Amino acid sequence: MIDEKEKLTAPEELEQNKNIDNNDNQDSNEYEDICYICRRPEHIAGKMIRIQGGIKICNDCMQRTFDSMNNMNMNDMMSGGKMPNISMIDLSELTGLLGGMSGANANTDGMTGGIPNSQRLKKQKNKEKKPRPALDINSIPAPHKIKAMLDEYVVGQDHAKKVMSVAVYNHYKRVMSKVEDDGVEIEKTNMLMIGPTGSGKTYLVKTLAKLLDVPLAITDATTLTEAGYIGDDIESVVSKLLAAADNDVERAEHGIIFIDEIDKIAKKKNANQRDVSGESVQQGMLKLLEGAEIEVPVGASSKNAMVPMTMVNTKNILFICGGAFPGLEDIIKERLNKAASIGFKADLKDKYDNEENLLSQVTVEDIRKFGMIPEFIGRLPMIFTLEALTEDMLVSILTEPKNAIIKQYQKLLLMDEVKLDFEEEALHTIAKRAKEKKVGARALRAIIEEFMLDIMYEIPKDENIGMVTITKDYIEKKGGPLIQMRGCPEIEDRSVQS
Ligand code: ADP
Repeated sequence: MIDEKEKLTAPEELEQNKNIDNNDNQDSNEYEDICYICRRPEHIAGKMIRIQGGIKICNDCMQRTFDSMNNMNMNDMMSGGKMPNISMIDLSELTGLLGGMSGANANTDGMTGGIPNSQRLKKQKNKEKKPRPALDINSIPAPHKIKAMLDEYVVGQDHAKKVMSVAVYNHYKRVMSKVEDDGVEIEKTNMLMIGPTGSGKTYLVKTLAKLLDVPLAITDATTLTEAGYIGDDIESVVSKLLAAADNDVERAEHGIIFIDEIDKIAKKKNANQRDVSGESVQQGMLKLLEGAEIEVPVGASSKNAMVPMTMVNTKNILFICGGAFPGLEDIIKERLNKAASIGFKADLKDKYDNEENLLSQVTVEDIRKFGMIPEFIGRLPMIFTLEALTEDMLVSILTEPKNAIIKQYQKLLLMDEVKLDFEEEALHTIAKRAKEKKVGARALRAIIEEFMLDIMYEIPKDENIGMVTITKDYIEKKGGPLIQMRGCPEIEDRSVQS
């Protein structure tokens, strides 16, 4: 049987095996080995034994395999068969046996032992060898610098930007501080941001993570359910962060997790059954927010027998929760009106009915009334609000940020050597339309894309066009844009609508 196997090993197959081994050598610098049988990574299962076909087995599984082979041989002997010497067991036989045990093909090209790199852990960097910590306090910009950087991308929301800059700066100072010196432990400042949809909550967090160069995971609270129910279990958010950190546990432990639509896990009112996606999720998130060792699957969102697992500590992960909290304004209004109409100096009962930006007067009590449990709110000590975007702010969003949508179109057309311009009135018309849709800045792109389609289609057709100006009439479909030909000063009013 052994000879037959050797004969079957074609030169191409040997070459392929060699390639797999070479890939392994390259990978071995970056990724941890994973046991082919129990799927535990190297830092848990210990050094691996390499066998034919690039397969790695941990010592425990190797021992168990030999034990089971011995048992098989004993059974053979009992039933009258001859007992072969254990030292004669061929590795190819072992490989076959292992392949059979895990039900997978050992020679899966491009993977190591059948495991894609997306499901492998990056090796932890040796702490002794690295003189500088993963996160250097000197490299974290001061709050005013963080805010100035945010200003380049995010329009308005000054209060939110200020609060976030200070909170993030303090958070990373806390991560690097040592408790033992004076017994003072700085508490974690997870955040809760409340603001209408499309006001820039997600965008703020994304920009912040990019500026600080820390991994970021964004999840939607609506998909989360209590463990054991259909939906993502709560710990899957940590697994997402690990993926965002390229499976580098150390980096993930300094990352940011943004949980959007947090208002959707408010306690359900008059619910008779178990509230598996509301209050239970809030309960389940408590230890995560505070800091706990969580066992997470690597490269997958759910735990199962085939996925390697690792431990991630959430103590230094910054959690930012965001939500629009519809109906919260009414709760605030009710409280304020009640307070105003009590006592000798009683004011009008409906004094606050038409007050703008009521959200900024939110208190913990209001949020509790909305349906968030006190323990949950207590773990998000930094609460702040974002304002609804005004028409002027929407115009600024179109033109001012570093990667403003209009700048993007201008860049695209400039590649065809065509200048793109917008009349001020046209910008306000777009902003007005976006405001009517009540989805904040999110509506801007859809509106612009709708009329820019014709421009982007028609303009490259005519090489003589040098400049296009978008007018209010064009947005309102009452006329065309102004077109200026190359080397020709006069302006033509031409519709490009096909
Ligand atoms: P939400 O508050 O619902 O999380 P987003 O942050 O996802 O809203 O905003 C949607 C898009 O609108 C962002 O990708 C961004 O391009 C734009 N946007 C929203 N608010 C602002 C703002 N204040 N400044 C610049 N762009 C913004």
